[in-house]
Amino acid sequence: MSEHRPGTQDHPLRVAVVGSGPAGFYAAEHLQSRGDVVQVDMFDRLPTPFGLVRGGVAPDHQKIKSVTKAYDRIAAHPEFRFYGNVELGRDVAREDLLAYYHAVIYAVGARTDRRMGIPREHLPGSHSATEFVGWYNAHPDFRSLSFDLSGPTAVVVGNGNVAMDVARILASPAEALAATDIADDALAELEAGGVREIVVLGRRGPAEAAFTAKELGELAALPGVDVIVDPAALDLPDVSREEVEATPDRNRDKNLATLREIAERPREGHPTRIVLDFLASPVEILGDAHVAGVRVVRNELYRGDDGRVRPRATDDERIIDTNLVFRAIGYQGVPLMGLPFDAWEGVIPNDAGRVLAGDGGGDHRGEYVTGWIKRGPTGIIGTNKPDAHETVDSLFEDLDAGLLDRGDVPGREVLERLLSQRRRDLVSYEDWQILDAIEQRRADDHDERPRRKFGEIRDMLAAISEHKDGEG
Ligand code: NAP
Repeated sequence: MSEHRPGTQDHPLRVAVVGSGPAGFYAAEHLQSRGDVVQVDMFDRLPTPFGLVRGGVAPDHQKIKSVTKAYDRIAAHPEFRFYGNVELGRDVAREDLLAYYHAVIYAVGARTDRRMGIPREHLPGSHSATEFVGWYNAHPDFRSLSFDLSGPTAVVVGNGNVAMDVARILASPAEALAATDIADDALAELEAGGVREIVVLGRRGPAEAAFTAKELGELAALPGVDVIVDPAALDLPDVSREEVEATPDRNRDKNLATLREIAERPREGHPTRIVLDFLASPVEILGDAHVAGVRVVRNELYRGDDGRVRPRATDDERIIDTNLVFRAIGYQGVPLMGLPFDAWEGVIPNDAGRVLAGDGGGDHRGEYVTGWIKRGPTGIIGTNKPDAHETVDSLFEDLDAGLLDRGDVPGREVLERLLSQRRRDLVSYEDWQILDAIEQRRADDHDERPRRKFGEIRDMLAAISEHKDGEG
């Protein structure tokens, strides 16, 4: 074995994980699992960890959010450190990480969203679901946004789980939201808002919908809400029927059964309604200074040359009057300085997590990806576990092959000196736990709320330092 092989007490393997969402934590967990001495340093640009579990998972999905208990256990490993409020490209450069670590795993997710590519998509009143979800989850990036919730009709474009989340939050009775950790201002504005009809547009049919049966079931069970599906939409076109017969898919079959049940329900005349409108694509946003409507075309389905069931516009058009449009048509990764990027897929090209040389060539030995920046914005939280394991297995293979041997990687104290010079408000995991406890205490006077989140970074940092000053 080479004298420089890292992974021992005297010579620990030093790995930087950039991003503290599920993908980053599952990578850390697997790094801790093999018996090598591995120092995992996890970076996040926010003072808070957990990525989309904190900033993306809907506030009324507290059970899903409780996965963070498992992440706390990973963070409790003696060789684990969290460096929050440190941004790659602002506070540390990729070159710094390459100098200070044997390996770097980028677990940065997909930070932006896909565009519809239709006229006036950028008018005020037309938003990405990413913005709305970040806003109601008190994500610091989206604090300054405002949404005009005064109109009676909102349109949600897309048929995935994010579309389901947005429709559900818009339709949920205020009492239900008041028992969640939704941002305080979002709670107040949703309560005061006037949205009474949410039209969800799916460009393909019910058999092709991307949402999962559990999320559809939640929508169907919302109290005080009529969910409306045109029974004719469940008379599937031939291409869909052929697919249903040829390819078993339990989620799809369950969706179809739930949609049939919804379609047959008598309308209760509730004050709020969600219309699931299939085979419908927005072709144009209407309005001058603000969204005033959406022109929608009816689609038909056909089988593309690739065998996929595809939508095709007919000349049947109509206009939905609305001042509020959310596109929930998928997230999109963004490039990282110095790394190759596949702009079409929005991912960093990789082989089982190893970053590949892009068109510009370059040596990316010791650089890995996991999560959405590796495979694209698909799957649920648990999908990140096998994904991260594959990446870390690649890293271990490279370690065993001697590819990560380097004698000149400085110790953790050198990195910490550099970070403290560059960042006055470094947030450790212990600091985050202080903030976590404060957020939960702040909810004590608000009966059922599990926590009241801070949404501004400066307020988070002030709360941590006030607490420490008080102790010290
Ligand atoms: P998604 O599941 O990929 O769904 C995107 C939807 O947008 C699809 O219905 C897609 O239709 C549609 N779409 C794409 N381009 C379009 C266009 N130009 N015009 C109209 N419609 C278009 O994405 P997502 O909803 O953002 O979710 C991302 C991932 O997070 C998914 O894996 C999801 O399951 C997961 N997630 C899970 C939960 C949960 O477990 N509770 C909650 C939220 C998100 P086509 O099928 O026709 O392409």
